[in-house]
Amino acid sequence: MAETGKKNRQFRAEVRKVLNILTHSLYTNREIFLRELISNASDALDKLRFRANRNEQPSGGDMPSEIRITIDKDNKTLTIADTGVGMTADELAENLGTIAKSGSEEFLTSLQSETASAPAADDAEKPDASNIVGRFGIGFYSVFMVADKVEVISTPAFGEERGAAVWSSDGLGAYSIEPAGSDAPARGTVVKAHIKGDAVEFLEKFRVESAVRNHSAFMPFPIFLDGERVNPEPALWREPKFSIKKEQYEAFYKALTYDAKAPMDVLHLSVDAPVQFNALLYIPDSKQDFFGVDRDFWGIDLYARRVLIQRRNKELIPEYLAFLKGVTDTEDLPLNISRETLQENVLLRKINQVIVKQVLGHLEKMEKDDRATYLRFWRLHGKIFKLGYNDFPNRERVSTLLRFNSSALADDEALTSLAEYISRAPAEQKTFWYVSAPNREAACMNPHMEIFRKKGIEVLYLFEPVDEFVMEGLGKYKEWDFKSVENATDDALAAFDDRKDALQQASAPLSGEEQEDFDKLLAKMKDILNDKVKEVRVSRRLDDSPSVLVSSEGAMTSSMEKLLKVMHKDDTLPVKVLEVNQNHPLLRGMLKIFKADPEDAMLALMTQGLFDASLLLDGYIREPQALASRVNALLKETATLYADGRGIPR
Ligand code: ADP
Ligand code: MG
Repeated sequence: MAETGKKNRQFRAEVRKVLNILTHSLYTNREIFLRELISNASDALDKLRFRANRNEQPSGGDMPSEIRITIDKDNKTLTIADTGVGMTADELAENLGTIAKSGSEEFLTSLQSETASAPAADDAEKPDASNIVGRFGIGFYSVFMVADKVEVISTPAFGEERGAAVWSSDGLGAYSIEPAGSDAPARGTVVKAHIKGDAVEFLEKFRVESAVRNHSAFMPFPIFLDGERVNPEPALWREPKFSIKKEQYEAFYKALTYDAKAPMDVLHLSVDAPVQFNALLYIPDSKQDFFGVDRDFWGIDLYARRVLIQRRNKELIPEYLAFLKGVTDTEDLPLNISRETLQENVLLRKINQVIVKQVLGHLEKMEKDDRATYLRFWRLHGKIFKLGYNDFPNRERVSTLLRFNSSALADDEALTSLAEYISRAPAEQKTFWYVSAPNREAACMNPHMEIFRKKGIEVLYLFEPVDEFVMEGLGKYKEWDFKSVENATDDALAAFDDRKDALQQASAPLSGEEQEDFDKLLAKMKDILNDKVKEVRVSRRLDDSPSVLVSSEGAMTSSMEKLLKVMHKDDTLPVKVLEVNQNHPLLRGMLKIFKADPEDAMLALMTQGLFDASLLLDGYIREPQALASRVNALLKETATLYADGRGIPR
C-alpha cells in the first residue's frame, strides 16, 4: 500500500473515546507523555536487539541503539527518534489506529475509580495523568495532551516491506498514512509532536530534561536531548550496597514503577551460589489490585549482563509475591536467549527459589523487629501474599506470616497471627476455628458463634472468599487443624467448659413429659418443612438465637457451597439440619400451642418463619414474595395479641 499515496482513515470508536478524554480533561502531570514515547522507543530498541541477536539483518546496518530528543522552538515541534524495529505502513495503521478492546475498557474503568478516589481539594477536577496512562496499551495517545498534530515517520528494520511511511493526525477523528519523503530515518521511528499553545513549556530544554530525568533516568538505552546525554545513571543493582543512598534507591523505584510514593522497603541482593545474580526488590507502599486491573501487571525485570532481556518476567517470582517490583541481573544467561526458552528455564527457577527464601526471611525479620511496618505490609499486600499457602516447601513459613481478625480482638483493625491464637487457647484445644463472613458484624451475628462465645473459644474471622481455600490448603499448622464453626460437632466442643461469666439459661429445663412433647413438636416441624430439611433437632450450641441451619458432619461450609453453586450455575437450596433452641421463649411458646392443638395453623407459619430466618442468616433469599406474605401473616397475629396484651381496647 506504500506506493498508492495518501490514505485517510477514521479512528475506531474506542480510540476516539480515549483521545477525547485525553485531550479534553485537564490533567496534571502531562509530562508523562514523554515517558510513554520514550518507553515505546525503548521497547522498539529491545525488539530490534532480540531479532538481531537471532541473526536477522536489520536495515540501516550497525546504527547505535539510542533515543534522540530534539526541540525546534521556531517550528514549535518536539521530536523523539529511535533506531528500533520501526513499523510498516500497515503496522502504523494497526498500532496507532486501534486499541485492544480490553485495553480501552480497563482504561475507562481505571479512570472512573481514579476520579472517584481523587482528593476533594482543588485538584479534584484534575486527574493525575500518570496514574491512568501507560498501562492499557494507550500510552502513545497521551502525546495528544500536549500536541495538536503528530507525525510518526517510520522505517521498518525487518521484513519484505521496508519502505518508510508517515502516519499523521490531529488527534480528533481521523489519521492519514502516506509514503515518507526524504526525511525518513534509515531505521526506526521518529515521532514529531507539534506542541499546543498551552503546552509550550515542553519546548524548553530544562523542562524536558527534568521530565526525562524524573521518569526515564534508568532506561537501558542512551537518551540524548539536543545532542546531550541525559540518562547517565549506572545499573544501580550492581553498585556496592554501602555506596548507595536512600534517595538513589527511591529514584530508581519511582522511575521503574511510576509510583509517586516512596517504597515501603527495599532488598538489595548480591548472590553467588547456587546461582549468580544481583537484584533490587522493592515492596511498594501502595496497594495494587491483582484480582482486577493489575491482573497481569506483575513480575521482575530480567537483565543479563546489564542488558534488559524482558520486562515483568513472571518466572522469577511466584504469584504470591506479585506485590514485589524490581530487577534481577545475572551473568549466567546468554544475551540471545529467546522469550520462549525463558519459560521453564532452570536458571530462572533457581533465582526464583533464592528470591522466595530471601523475601520470606526479610518479612520474618520485619515481623519481629518492626511490627507496625509488618502490619502495614499485611494490610497492603496480604490479599495476594496469602496465596502462598500453595507454596508447599515454604508453607510453614508463610503460615507464620499470615494475619487474621478474630473474635478475641477489640475491633476489625486488629490482627492476630496463628501463633498468638495458640497462645491464647485452652490447653486441650488443637483446632483453629474460623467463620466466613463479609464483615465483623455479620461474623458476630452468626448463630454458630454462640457456643464459641459461651465457651470462650476464639474464632478467626475470614472476610475474603479466598480465605477458606487458604485454610483448606494449609491443612495443618504446628499440628493444629483448621475447621469452620459450622462444622463444629457437639462432641468436639464438649470437652470445653462454659465460661464462668456465661449467661445462665433463661428458661427452666423441660420436665420428662414436656421433653416427650417437645420431641413430638420436632417431628411435627419436620413434617411441615418436609424435604427442605434433613432433620429438625435440639441444638446444644445456641444461646440467644431460636434456630440455626447446620451442615452434616464433614460437609462443605455454606460460603464454600455458595461459591461452588455460583460456579456451576446451580440455584437449588442446600438441604441441611434445622437445629432449634429448646430454651428459647419462641420454642417454648410453640410447645404450648402444640400441646393445646397439634394441628394449630400457627405452628406451620412459625416453623416456616424460623426456617426462613435461618436461611437468611445463611445468605439465601428465596421466593421473597412468599416470605413477605408469611411475615405479614405473623405480624397480623402479633399486632392483635400485642394490643390485647397491653389492654388497648379493640
Ligand atoms: P503499548 O506500548 O502499551 O503497546 P502504545 O499506545 O504506547 O501502547 O503503543 C502502541 C503500539 O505502537 C506499540 O505496542 C508498538 O507496537 C507501536 N509503537 C509505538 N511507538 C513505537 C516506536 N517508537 N517504534 C515501534 N513501534 C512503536
Ligand atoms: Mg507504550
